[in-house]
Amino acid sequence: MAQVAPAAGTRPWDDPSRMIGVDDARDRIVVAFAPLPAVPLPLDDALGLVLASPVVADANLPPFANAAMDGFAVRTADTRQATPDAAVTLRVIGQAAAGYLTDVEVIAGTAVRIMTGAPIPAGADAVVRFEETDEAETRLSDRVLLSAPARRVEIRRAPKPCENVRPAGEDVGAGETVLTTGTRLRAAHLGLLAALGRTSVAVHRRPRVAILATGDEIVEPGGELRPGQIRNSNGTMIAALVRRYGGQPIVLGVARDTAADLRQKLRSACGADLLITIGGVSVGDYDVVKEILRAEGRIDLWQVRLKPGKPLAFGWIGATPLLGLPGNPVAAAVAFEQFARPALLTLIGRTDLDLPTVLACLADRIENRGGRRHFVRVRVDATATGYVARLAGAQGAGILTSLARANGLLVIPEEVAVAEPDSMLPVQMPDWEGG
Ligand code: AMP
Ligand code: MG
Repeated sequence: MAQVAPAAGTRPWDDPSRMIGVDDARDRIVVAFAPLPAVPLPLDDALGLVLASPVVADANLPPFANAAMDGFAVRTADTRQATPDAAVTLRVIGQAAAGYLTDVEVIAGTAVRIMTGAPIPAGADAVVRFEETDEAETRLSDRVLLSAPARRVEIRRAPKPCENVRPAGEDVGAGETVLTTGTRLRAAHLGLLAALGRTSVAVHRRPRVAILATGDEIVEPGGELRPGQIRNSNGTMIAALVRRYGGQPIVLGVARDTAADLRQKLRSACGADLLITIGGVSVGDYDVVKEILRAEGRIDLWQVRLKPGKPLAFGWIGATPLLGLPGNPVAAAVAFEQFARPALLTLIGRTDLDLPTVLACLADRIENRGGRRHFVRVRVDATATGYVARLAGAQGAGILTSLARANGLLVIPEEVAVAEPDSMLPVQMPDWEGG
């Protein structure tokens, strides 16, 4: 849709020079937030959240020396001469399985058959893999017999001391700081905490985010559509985004386009760390969100120089910050990524607020009249010559299919009126957020 240049002064909301820039708006929103208090959370609930205190190991990991391979635990003093052509024969005096301690001691001339993860028996200082013994030729069915005592094994390679042995504390030593404050917990961190015996972890608590859709035309997805109505797609999408960035959505449903209904529904948001409204922040006759903000609270900013997503409001209702997203679904999603995401990340204690971004070569030609920062739905593919970005479909602010098809938001700067094919431009890649 072409932007019509406004006659100065007549439509101030269409005059980009009067709008606040994206970076400026983001900065002004982010300073309103600070990390929430720390709470202990079960590991299963902590993915993506941020450590509020360091984690110090209270024991070694692994807790005991154990076999890294299936094979034979030996004394390297016995096997120094072993080669494929001149094997050293040892007497097998026992078996060691994972989960059991063996009381046999490997003395000169002996070996213990050992499985991965089993504690290394006393006296042994290396493990020789089955493949380097005559057991390599033993048929699987014969292995049942191997528990017979006094069996012999031919060792065909001289292991180095400690070979195939995982010493106690190899991974983590008791007393070591394993994770530092500020670590964003990924699956590997949670695994590490479990390995250290933790069942819970201190993280900044999840922000409670109240979500209120607005509009006389909006009905919940399960409801029947009467003429003129559409479904509340944004409620579901914004709740999913809130969850994705560590928040706990509190869904307040849909408010009518009246000050009274809006006021009443907003009341149920008290106690939330952030209130997100959807729609009603434009310049239409029934756009009451900003009116309520003006009347009942404070409006810090309204109208940001981005596309889609220009009608965006930020302010306060009492002590609760309110982010008013535009109603058009794609505008709501784009504005969420630019403004709600950094606010949520700040609340959960993150300091890295930028979306993962790549430079990609644009395959299409895209106009950007109107002096706003344009976020374009694209598909980015990795090719032999680098990343290539293609339009993911039609770019209307209400077209959800192209957002669903896209894996990135290509950023055309405010001052670029036309992005030509082959130009290199940054693309935000929300899906690349590590997990
Ligand atoms: P508004 O910002 O309220 O003027 O809404 C702009 C456009 O977005 C209108 O076409 C609305 O019908 C649509 N819209 C507003 N809220 C929602 C919602 N929750 N889900 C889907 N579409 C919406
Ligand atoms: Mg509306």
